[in-house]
Amino acid sequence: AFGGVDPLLEGLNPAQERAVIARGPALLIVAGAGSGKTRVLTHRIAHLIREREAWPSQILAITFTNKAAAEMRERIAGLLGDAAEGMWVSTFHSACVRILRREAERFGYVAGFTIYDSADSRALLKRIIKELDADTYGFTPANSGSKISRLKNELTDVDTYAATAVEGDPRERLFIEIFRTYEQELRRANAFDFDDLIGQTVHLFRAHPDVAAVYQRRFRHILVDEYQDTNHAQYSLIRELTKPVAPEEVERLVPPARERELDDSGRIPGASLTVVGDSDQSIYAFRGADIRNIVEFERDFVGAEVVKLEQNYRSTQNILSAANAVIGNNFDRQEKSLWTSEGDGAKIVGFTGYSQHDEARFVAEEIEDLHREGLDYNDIAVFYRTNSQTRALEELLIRAAIPYRVLGGTKFYERAEVKDAMAYLTSIANPYDPITWSRLLGAPKRGIGPMAEAQLANFQEAQGINFHEAMLRCGELSFGPKVRASILGLGDLLSRASRMAVGGGATDASAAPGEDAAEKQPAPVGDLLKLILDETEMIEKLRARRDPQDDARAENLEELLAVAREFDVKQPGAGLLAFLTEVSLVAAADDLDDSSGTVSLMTMHTAKGLEYRSVFITGVEEGLIPHQMSVDEVGGVNEERRLMYVGITRARERLYLTLASTRATFGDVSVAMPSRFLQEIPEGLIDWRQSPGEVTSRGGTASRALNAPARPGSGYSRSSGRSTESAVSFGSGGSGSAAVSEPASGNMQSALEQWRERKRAAKA
Ligand code: ATP
Ligand code: MG
Repeated sequence: AFGGVDPLLEGLNPAQERAVIARGPALLIVAGAGSGKTRVLTHRIAHLIREREAWPSQILAITFTNKAAAEMRERIAGLLGDAAEGMWVSTFHSACVRILRREAERFGYVAGFTIYDSADSRALLKRIIKELDADTYGFTPANSGSKISRLKNELTDVDTYAATAVEGDPRERLFIEIFRTYEQELRRANAFDFDDLIGQTVHLFRAHPDVAAVYQRRFRHILVDEYQDTNHAQYSLIRELTKPVAPEEVERLVPPARERELDDSGRIPGASLTVVGDSDQSIYAFRGADIRNIVEFERDFVGAEVVKLEQNYRSTQNILSAANAVIGNNFDRQEKSLWTSEGDGAKIVGFTGYSQHDEARFVAEEIEDLHREGLDYNDIAVFYRTNSQTRALEELLIRAAIPYRVLGGTKFYERAEVKDAMAYLTSIANPYDPITWSRLLGAPKRGIGPMAEAQLANFQEAQGINFHEAMLRCGELSFGPKVRASILGLGDLLSRASRMAVGGGATDASAAPGEDAAEKQPAPVGDLLKLILDETEMIEKLRARRDPQDDARAENLEELLAVAREFDVKQPGAGLLAFLTEVSLVAAADDLDDSSGTVSLMTMHTAKGLEYRSVFITGVEEGLIPHQMSVDEVGGVNEERRLMYVGITRARERLYLTLASTRATFGDVSVAMPSRFLQEIPEGLIDWRQSPGEVTSRGGTASRALNAPARPGSGYSRSSGRSTESAVSFGSGGSGSAAVSEPASGNMQSALEQWRERKRAAKA
């Protein structure tokens, strides 16, 4: 545009360039991992804005995680500078919350609605199941919750479901009852669950064409990354958003539509849609992701242009060959092969430990070596299939003093103390929500028991008032003086905080309404939280217990306060609702952490879309990857294979595949077999430091290896020579003895929790 090389197109290959400059109504970019799909999206957005074909506010870009959204925003800002202001780059969920907050009244909701996370949903379901005595029929919050979630992802509401359900089946009837009650309770609480966010937005658009028209007009370009993992509800949302605005709706738009917005038939044409995806990386079928969305894109969006990208810019050829070999075993796919011009690179390194401990030691030691060779810890990631695998890894990393962080582990906002404090803020925004109110009553303990709670709740319902008002009027109920004082105190705190939140002032309740109206600003969120933490003495009470775990909890609360203060600085005047929205959408605790200088640990699911110079995939065993639960499911192994493909293709330069010949899970030690996916990788690509064959044939030495000094660097010996040539023989792995015993932990998950707590305490 400015003569010479266009910086936005510079360095792109011809297919990528075509995808950046294409201007049809619909564009599908299908390509393998690391071929620049996300990069193309980013450049396409920048190009649209710089060529003045769109205002930033006319663009809606959808990514799969908040982290990916932040990265994309950053990259666009890098290309354009400030010009990117006002653009919506977000996940499906965040985009929908923004829409729902604006349009909540249409639903009989108020803008301050609560978003229930899965723990909240489960708490509500637990009550319902108990009330309906449904547990005797085998209903649990987990199984009914996931069924409801699946139905919502398919946009099936309770009436539709009831109409198709098997008649006369008592279990089915009971489930419908649970589902129906659940929906009623959500509404009464002025709350949405996570799946509702998308489903209700679709519902809103369908029920209110005038509302839909506002967004259909606003977003002229919609771009979706990781399209292969969209489910039916998300797909439907996209369909609604890309519809043209019909002439009768055009007339109702404010401000009136201008001539140039309209096409020949008096409509506002539908937004252009760009989706990018890789059907080989579809790994969310269990959450209702529907691979057909990508397969049928061309049929759904007539006139769609298709661009294929095949050159990979991320990985070396050895890594790609391994990835191609593995995914080649899925026969239900469109053939595509990745290649690179970068050369073969290093071989893949394989290692079989005697135990998961031994495996972890290898990982820690290799990381030390890589670091010594000059690699940043940042550039290294360790993947696993299940969260329970982290304990051994964390243990060895700590011993080796390697800084690390766990992505998507126990989430900061899911910690009990953080949820306690958040319950106050949530209740201030939505005083009708029983789940958060019930939570804050007992946090900290203040002598308001279940009986008192039930009385208050009944009173609240009977009077049609909110929970805070009910508490202030507890004098009308028969409570003892101590309980009454406690309830009144809490009710008073909540009402004062509520006034502050809307700008009424905390202490100055006597001021006449309207007085100083101009000066009445909503209080900063940090001030609100500070008030709550001070008056409830949550932090002091934790500190007073002199238990390192409680110290860690107190620190989490201080951290939360810091988060709130930071929010106030970043978004001055945005207020409580904006804060709650942000918090409820932040995926992981680790988004709070500084990622510099740490090795990243995560599940393979979390790894999607990311890249690292060195990648360790651990636990490459039957039962883990492919996961035990997938093996008996139709298509289950194929989905696991795609997950393995995602894992392998994250690596840029070095890939390590490790496993253990015995593994302790939930206190039991079992013999582990190498994953079938390992056998799918051509032998010549892997340099085995210790092959599965070597370990099982020398099973007798296992205990020695376990007892060896744990300090990395002195544990196993890395004898050279035998590694490259060693023959890999699989299949007979079951012969090793299972006598090796890891320190048995009754419950891995809680042991892991304690371990992390101790670590935090030690760090402090
Ligand atoms: P995934 O399927 O894993 O999400 P992707 O297709 O989105 O991968 P990107 O993350 O966009 O791939 O790109 C992979 C890497 O290749 C990035 O580091 C990117 O900067 C780089 N890359 C992409 N295209 C080019 C190019 N034309 N020249 C140089 N580097 C490129
Ligand atoms: Mg990508």
